[in-house]
Amino acid sequence: MKLKSGDTLILATHNPGKLSEISALLSPYGLLIGSSGNLGLEEPEETEDTFSENALLKARFVSSKTGHIALADDSGLVVPALNGQPGVYSARWGGLEKNQQLANKKVIDLLQDKPRNAHFVCFLAIVWPNGDEMTFEGKSHGFLTWPERGELGFGFDPIFIPNGDSRTYGEMTKLEKSQTSHRSQAFAKFKDQLLNA
Ligand code: IMP
Repeated sequence: MKLKSGDTLILATHNPGKLSEISALLSPYGLLIGSSGNLGLEEPEETEDTFSENALLKARFVSSKTGHIALADDSGLVVPALNGQPGVYSARWGGLEKNQQLANKKVIDLLQDKPRNAHFVCFLAIVWPNGDEMTFEGKSHGFLTWPERGELGFGFDPIFIPNGDSRTYGEMTKLEKSQTSHRSQAFAKFKDQLLNA
């Protein structure tokens, strides 16, 4: 199965940071991109306890509501010293108001002097209206820093330094972040399978 120029693809996200990164990754391929947020669809509750199942749940929901091919991203920050938290619950660590500064501080406060290595995980799930589906995984390893640095990116980017760099993702442009990010690594696999170079 391949995606071709002119196909409609609905991104199953209300998160402006994800929307912006995924739209940039897809921009060379001539797809007609929409998003569930911009279409005013509600967000399904993420009831699963794995990234892949939550990504599939979101993509299935949007494909069934729109009748189009849907692409979802489920991602999060995994901190081994916190038993893998915040993990699949990353989006909820900022409370009901999704206050990311609160989430960032909570991670650092809980860590105290424990090891600061961490990684991001991203699962992309694509679902076709006929029920076909595929998932793709990407990871980015690095370590956490405090105080926050950088105004770019989103989520935990200002406290995460990828291995091999001295800047946080919050200090990188989208293009710079995409050299190592979990999302671009999952996308590289997606592209290999589904898009013509
Ligand atoms: P989801 O919508 O359940 O996948 O929640 C993902 C959450 O993980 C986001 O709200 C961010 O807090 C965090 N996250 C995912 N990807 C990134 C990233 O690339 N940078 C920073 N934080 C991220």
